[in-house]
Amino acid sequence: MNATRNEQKGLQSTSATIMIVDDEQINIDVVEVFLEEEGYHQFVSLTKPGEALAAIEEHRPDLLLLDLMMPEVSGFDILAELGTHPKFCHLPVIIMTAASDTESKLKALELGATDFLTKPLDQSELVLRVRNTLFVKAYQDQLAYFDPLTKLPNRQLFLEELKWSFNVAKRHQECFALLNIEIDKFSKINDTMGIVAGDEVLRIVAQRIQNVVRDMDILGRAMGDEETELKLFHLDSSVFSLLLNRIQNAESTAYVAERIIREIKRVIKFNEQEVYLSASIGIATYPAESSDVETLIKLSSSAKDYAKKQGGNSFQFSSASINEMYEQRLNLESQLRQALENDNFVLHFQPKVDIQSGVIKGVEALIRMKSDEGLIYPNEFIPLAEETGLIVPIGKWCLAESCRQLKEWHQSGKEPIGMSVNLSVKQFADDTFMESIKGIILASGVDTSYLTLELTESLLLEEIEHKIKILHNLKELGLKLSIDDFGTGYSSLSYLRKLPVDELKIDRSFVMEVGNHEDSRAIISTIIFLADSLKLATVAEGIELDQELSFLKEQGCQQFQGFLYSRPLPAEELIRLLPEARQLG
Ligand code: C2E
Ligand code: MG
Ligand code: MG
Repeated sequence: MNATRNEQKGLQSTSATIMIVDDEQINIDVVEVFLEEEGYHQFVSLTKPGEALAAIEEHRPDLLLLDLMMPEVSGFDILAELGTHPKFCHLPVIIMTAASDTESKLKALELGATDFLTKPLDQSELVLRVRNTLFVKAYQDQLAYFDPLTKLPNRQLFLEELKWSFNVAKRHQECFALLNIEIDKFSKINDTMGIVAGDEVLRIVAQRIQNVVRDMDILGRAMGDEETELKLFHLDSSVFSLLLNRIQNAESTAYVAERIIREIKRVIKFNEQEVYLSASIGIATYPAESSDVETLIKLSSSAKDYAKKQGGNSFQFSSASINEMYEQRLNLESQLRQALENDNFVLHFQPKVDIQSGVIKGVEALIRMKSDEGLIYPNEFIPLAEETGLIVPIGKWCLAESCRQLKEWHQSGKEPIGMSVNLSVKQFADDTFMESIKGIILASGVDTSYLTLELTESLLLEEIEHKIKILHNLKELGLKLSIDDFGTGYSSLSYLRKLPVDELKIDRSFVMEVGNHEDSRAIISTIIFLADSLKLATVAEGIELDQELSFLKEQGCQQFQGFLYSRPLPAEELIRLLPEARQLG
């Protein structure tokens, strides 16, 4: 008896979505206030009964509190429509009405109403009715929609959720992915260990997949998007399904699949036996691969069958092109690792030129990766390096190599120039960031007043105060800080005042439109004005044309970079451009 009561408690949830339809806003307010005091907080409220059905389909409430007497569309009309609705015919409805006549109550009951409340509402009566009705609903849902073995949502709910994901994604132009997960050769477990043990193993597997799903941290990193939502279902004995709503791109779902495969592979100790399992996963995505639910299910399932045929313990995208993209990512990742090991990176240097005198004041170090097919440019590999964390060692290499080169040039008898090095936001996330930067710079023995670190505005998207502290620490090393691609990122300018920066680099996207976009010219003037008033230097990026240069000169920009003067060059070519040091005395 006790157990039953506890189970009942578990089924009651204040997170239920409660919909209130009443043409008088004041009645809605009263209901919400009464229920809020009991902890309910998800309300969908409408004063226009004509919109009720569409809102029910969109928000899928657990309970409807419905006024009977409303103009145009009455509560009876809504009840009648609900009664024939394929999905919501069982939605519990509590009628709220001032009418005390038995006739309308009977009519509402006949139309499927669950319960009554008489206006003016009594708070304790309202709370009691809502609680009881939600409990019955949750219990029925539990029986109808959840698998008793794993306690996960079942196939029935899966189909409904998939349709819902599909409709939402279509409306908001989002992407979602469907993963079909099957434990390889599971029937063997049942055959050798018996069904009871098989069930227990399945419960453990379900728990492991669920743990991956719950690991929001991993998710955030994998998707680059906290909005992503994962829902796991148990479809059939050894088959699970995972819905990933609002994903950024298809390839990133591979990360989740990999994690699940790894978790399932971990040995299961059960009844003093060791059980080794593996899984095959098929992935299909909307809208890239299919724009209807049925095909999506088929695609994910046949991709899984394909993975199984290849020997299992792997995942497969259903589309050949996504598989190919994923393969390319894997290749690039291993190329990056090898490049780190074999010193296959190289820096090129682009002059930073004084706009008035035309003299080179410094260079920006830009990384390239050597490959059999020639150089690979950073836009192709930095994003992946950031995703995989390889940016941390790569960033260290860049800084060390830039400092070494700068020191060499400073000793070469040429006029000393500055060196700008790009830092990725992801490097800041590394715990040893400050320590390693400091170590590298000090070890190089470079004069830090010639060193500039370039950061992007996205650095300040989160943990701003913490980041500002780090920036101050960096400044203590005697170097300069610059904001790269300025104007393209985070738009709040108020933070600029707080930052210990020295320079703004005007993004190439504005510079390249100087000739034909009034807006871009205005933005450039504003950035330079802003920089002047904050006593920051300005550098224009990507100048290719004379007219761009003259405009920036006119506006008072101090330095520029661009193909007009020079492309990024290997060190041995760059040194030829540097002026000889002036003789002292
Ligand atoms: P960025 O820091 O804004 O660098 C400027 C980019 O613009 C460079 O591309 C440069 O070659 C290109 N550029 C310069 N002048 C012109 C021009 O007149 N016209 C055109 N079309 N392009 C011009 P690159 O070398 O391909 O680098 C691209 C981005 O990759 C860099 O943008 C930077 O964000 C990143 N990156 C490069 N090296 C590193 C590095 O060592 N570490 C990190 N974290 N990121 C790097
Ligand atoms: Mg840069
Ligand atoms: Mg830039």
